Amino acid sequence: MTNPVPPPQKPPAPSQNNGWSFHLVSLFGIPVQIHITFLVLIIWIALQGSPSKTEPALFRLLFVLSVFTCVLLHELGHSLVAKRHGIQTRSITLTPIGGVALLETMPRPREELFIALAGPLVNVAIAILIYVGGLIAHLPMKFPITEAPNSLPTFMTYLFVINVILALFNLLPVFPMDGGRVFRSVLAHFMSDVQATVIAVRVGQFLAALLGVYAFLTGQWMLMVLAVFVYMAGGQESNAFQTKELASGHTAREAMMREFHTLNTGDSLRKAADMLLAGSQHDFPVMSGNSVAGILTRSALMRGYAQEGGEAYVAEFMNRDYLVVPPDMALEEAIVQVQGVTNDPILVMEQGAGGEPVLMGLLTQENLLEFLKLRQLQDIRSNRPERY
Ligand SMILES: [Zn+2]
Repeated sequence: MTNPVPPPQKPPAPSQNNGWSFHLVSLFGIPVQIHITFLVLIIWIALQGSPSKTEPALFRLLFVLSVFTCVLLHELGHSLVAKRHGIQTRSITLTPIGGVALLETMPRPREELFIALAGPLVNVAIAILIYVGGLIAHLPMKFPITEAPNSLPTFMTYLFVINVILALFNLLPVFPMDGGRVFRSVLAHFMSDVQATVIAVRVGQFLAALLGVYAFLTGQWMLMVLAVFVYMAGGQESNAFQTKELASGHTAREAMMREFHTLNTGDSLRKAADMLLAGSQHDFPVMSGNSVAGILTRSALMRGYAQEGGEAYVAEFMNRDYLVVPPDMALEEAIVQVQGVTNDPILVMEQGAGGEPVLMGLLTQENLLEFLKLRQLQDIRSNRPERY
């Protein structure tokens, strides 16, 4: 017998281009994009200084381009090592605050060590090249830096320092920066991936908080913004990772709501309101005969009530675009399908004996959170003996 599972309805694929980035070039098959704010920065730098003295402006421009070439090489370092581990890079985007290499899949924390190290090591290599190149060409670096990068020696000195800073800054053990990933990778050899992530994130957030206090006391606002950004990014990464881990190995069937009520297209909003009040269900599948016609969510019900009162039909306010997944779909995958797409419940449907889709359950945000919470409690109790 063939697999009786209907294919899942695909949500719109996440856009590769967020609309603010432009394709620049493809390197090693990886599209390199440039964020519009970076172009603005270049134009701004070019416009600095008086027209009679174009040379400093030209050096500044050249300097910014050189720095971003170094950032690009840093990201390529991550991408090429990831490729050796069988992970493709979807894109590299350059922004004024740095670069981002978007990998197709996240490597396991333990495999991540070399991918995370590759970026900063590229900057170390560039710094060494500049230093050795300067010695060979008898262009010694000038320390301390007192003038702008308007001559070749000062230019190279600046570039050397920038690369050392890029390497050191990215190696700070602050998740999700490279150093935080290296730290997690090392921790993951001694504990579970989730525990390693939690500890790496906490240490990173503690350091980010210290940095934030320091920035506040010294009035360095850019640094403060960065500290807040790193703090929040760490928390988000940690949550996303925990969700993924807790869901892995489970199916949509296990987490779905199995006992639920349905409405018919001819039912009134008043009936829907009664059902909403009578139970704890917020969203109702709306049936037309034996097939699903849509979902009436709580917010749609409220909106309908406000606009037309209780006598209006549910069919008028139900959402006809709903996501369907088969019961045996990996829960991880089902979560990825909804994330950022909809807050409505997903319908879990299976093909019946006659080939018609049969509604098996609802995957709501609430149910999903409860399921993951229970998994977490179970994990804490059993302390994940399967890992070590
Ligand atoms: Zn990096």
